[in-house]
Formats: sequence, structure tokens, C-alpha cells
Amino acid sequence: MPCETVITPESILKDCDRMTGDDCFTFRCGADLDCFTRCCRDVAIVLTPYDLLRLKRALRMDSSELLEKYTLRLEGPGQKFPIVLLRMQDDDSRQCPFLCERGCQVYPDRPWACRMYPLGAAEPKAPGGEDQPFHFVVREELCHGHGEGIPISVRDWMAGQQIEEFEMMSAGFKELTLHDFWNGKTNLTPQQSDMFYMACYDVDRFRRFVFETRFLQLFDIDEARVEALRCDDEELIEFGMQWLRFAIFGERSMKIRRGSVARKDG
Ligand code: SF4
Ligand code: SF4
Repeated sequence: MPCETVITPESILKDCDRMTGDDCFTFRCGADLDCFTRCCRDVAIVLTPYDLLRLKRALRMDSSELLEKYTLRLEGPGQKFPIVLLRMQDDDSRQCPFLCERGCQVYPDRPWACRMYPLGAAEPKAPGGEDQPFHFVVREELCHGHGEGIPISVRDWMAGQQIEEFEMMSAGFKELTLHDFWNGKTNLTPQQSDMFYMACYDVDRFRRFVFETRFLQLFDIDEARVEALRCDDEELIEFGMQWLRFAIFGERSMKIRRGSVARKDG
């Protein structure tokens, strides 16, 4: 059955039908439905680095300004690394800042979570340790799109929402956030947390950090890559994750220049 109760990791595993790409559900979303844009209010949308990149480009904003104006940084007890949420408006409407009368102002660049709805994704581990990913349908009272239209497979829904591109561009971030390091007891220091936030979410500030500090004197980086980092945001985000693996996880993912002394914080 679709998930109709409050969604928690436990209820997803216990109550939801586990769907594969071939399984179908009947759903349609559109401006003619009486629930149009109701789902864009008072909702917790976690943003990935690629979501932020798409929004930054769509809005032609500096990443620091985008984060400041439209997002919330969430960290604290129980949260191993900082996450970024889309900040709903502070007034009674609690609506998404990108919502207007006609709908979503950033529709072609809307985040992964907005594209997926009403589908959810889970990746529990089997007792043997292997991943057992599945999808499920979330059914909320506010959404009247269920039962509308014709049945569509999970695979076709995801293709229509360009989910593959978003998931491909987020693969490195997913790997970083699922790293064994987080199973340890150590919390990030405030400085490490800032490094994580900057490299993953604040791409323009990270670029200034790479090019306007001693960073390039400390690390041995191929010339062609340095040039790519100047203008290619995707490349810079991938590089940022490589740096975090070095600086936080202690992996040998970066080469220190001969003769330079690098601290772990770069
Ligand atoms: S980004 Fe667009 S689709 Fe997502 S909640 Fe905001 S208005 Fe709705
Ligand atoms: S509530 Fe459901 S059907 Fe209505 S606009 Fe949102 S996603 Fe579409």
C-alpha cells in the first residue's frame, strides 16, 4: 500500500509497498487540480550540492548569497555533518520562496525532492550487508493527484523528471555522506563542519578559497585540472569532495607539494 501515515524511516520499511522500476502507480499533477501548489508549503526539502548548483544558475546568484537568502543550515546533536534545507517563508503562508501564482518559478531547475514527489526512495541493507533499494509512493491528504491520469511506471516517472541526471551528479556526495567515517563517534569540529559546508554547498566561496589563499601552493594539482576548477562548477564540487576526504577522513586523496607543509585543514 502507499504510505499514508507520517513518514519515518521505520514506517517506510514496515508499511510501504516496495516498488521496482516496472511497478506502476496512478498519478497526475497539474495546474487544473484543486491542490495545485499546496505541496510547496511548509515542507522540509533537503538540498544536494547539485540542487544548489541548478538553483544558483537559474537565479544567476552567487552561491553564498543563495544560501543566505533561501536556505537554512541544519546541524547539531544527531547530525553528523551540516545539511541544507530550502527555507520556507517566515510568514503565515510558510510557502516556498520560489512559488508564485503560476507555480514554481524555478521549475526546470527544481530540486531532486520536488521532482520525485510523490515517489520516495529508500536503500536499506539486507542482513548480508548488500543494498536493497526500493521506491514507494507517498500519499498525503493534501495531494489530490492520486488516482488521476493513467498508470505510469516508476521508471517512466523518473525519466520524465530527469532524475537520472540529478542522481548521477549527486553520486559523489552520496558516497561522501555514506562513508564509514560517519559510523565513528567523533563529531566534526566547527572548523571541519565549515569546510564541509563550503566545499559541498558554497561553490563560489570554495573557488575563492582555492584561488585566493595558499591552497594551490600546498597541493600538487595538475595544471589542466587547475584551469578546469576556475570555471567548471561540477569539477570544483567533485574536487571539493576529494579535498574533504583528505582533510576530514584522512585519506590520501590529495598530493602535497614537495617542500610545502600542509596542515590537514589545507
Ligand atoms: S522549488 Fe518549486 S516545486 Fe519545489 S517546493 Fe519550491 S515552488 Fe514547489
Ligand atoms: S499536491 Fe500533488 S497533485 Fe497537487 S500540485 Fe502538488 S504534487 Fe501536484
